[in-house]
Amino acid sequence: MKIVVDPAVCTGHAQCASLAPDVYTVDDHGYNALRAFTVTSGLEEHARAGAISCPEGAITVLDD
Ligand code: SF4
Repeated sequence: MKIVVDPAVCTGHAQCASLAPDVYTVDDHGYNALRAFTVTSGLEEHARAGAISCPEGAITVLDD
């Protein structure tokens, strides 16, 4: 599974990292600090939950 974060859409709610801190990292202003990465094995459901929680739809989940 891969995750892609669109920085043009992210508005810094930090919901993703609040729900799944083992997957998402935010900067000092609450914006997602990541861009594109492969999810660590075993954390797929956390990654998906964090993506769904994003009120802006800034996180795209790409299943293998
Ligand atoms: S929840 Fe969405 S808008 Fe908020 S920091 Fe995460 S990616 Fe950005």
